[in-house]
Amino acid sequence: MVYSHTQIAQYLRCPRAYRYRYLDGWREKESRASLLFGRAFEKALAAFFSREDCAAALFKEWGAYREAPLEYSRGDNWERIARQGVQLLERLAQHDRIRIPQPHRNMQVKLVRSLSEASEFVAYVDAVGTLDGKRCLLEWKTTTARYPEEPEGLLALDPQLICYSWISGIPDVAVVAFVRKRVSEIQYLKTTISDEQRQEYGHLVEATIQQIEAGQFHPHSGIRFPQNGCVSCAQLGLCLGNQQLVEAKLIRTPGASDLDWLDQLDD
Ligand code: SF4
Repeated sequence: MVYSHTQIAQYLRCPRAYRYRYLDGWREKESRASLLFGRAFEKALAAFFSREDCAAALFKEWGAYREAPLEYSRGDNWERIARQGVQLLERLAQHDRIRIPQPHRNMQVKLVRSLSEASEFVAYVDAVGTLDGKRCLLEWKTTTARYPEEPEGLLALDPQLICYSWISGIPDVAVVAFVRKRVSEIQYLKTTISDEQRQEYGHLVEATIQQIEAGQFHPHSGIRFPQNGCVSCAQLGLCLGNQQLVEAKLIRTPGASDLDWLDQLDD
């Protein structure tokens, strides 16, 4: 078996949703503009750090969705997002705070950790380079809202960063948040993950995998006003037996053969 951070996070959020996604093969339709733009923007970043024409790369990738019937959030449209993407690439060049040596080797770095004879953990880290001259692991995020910076130290609790630090052994990590808004902005957020946090994450992975392999998939619904996790769960139609909702949100793929290696880009 091969595990990833996305899988562990999904199991911890709701074991029943994990079963639907990874065992039964129900996956969310990919029609959210924010998600698809995030992927296109990653390609543009790869071109940027390889000193290629990053705006052309962005238009090539994002251009593929120009006529597609995507789900846009309020006020967004294809042209607006394209303009924001170019603005963010210009800001990145102006700031000039990140260096990635040998980008073909140091971007989308595949890291593998053996868990047992029969299982391993795989992560794709966005980049390993330097931010303001200090070596660190870099994680790109595209978003429409600024990341919270208060209270101090909050970023060190981010489970994805802890996971990447655990699998890479690199303590210094950073999120580079590309914030799409009227005047787009880039946040450079740095933190350090401790040895203790890395060890704890290792224990969490071990304990979670034991439950998965024991076949424990109890629903963990989030019905509690106002933070109801089920409302934003793509699998809600399955739990409610609502066929219309299932057809609107999900497609069925064969079992767990297609795993989410790449962590979802936020919006
Ligand atoms: S709708 Fe709620 S209970 Fe059902 S899979 Fe999603 S989060 Fe779990």
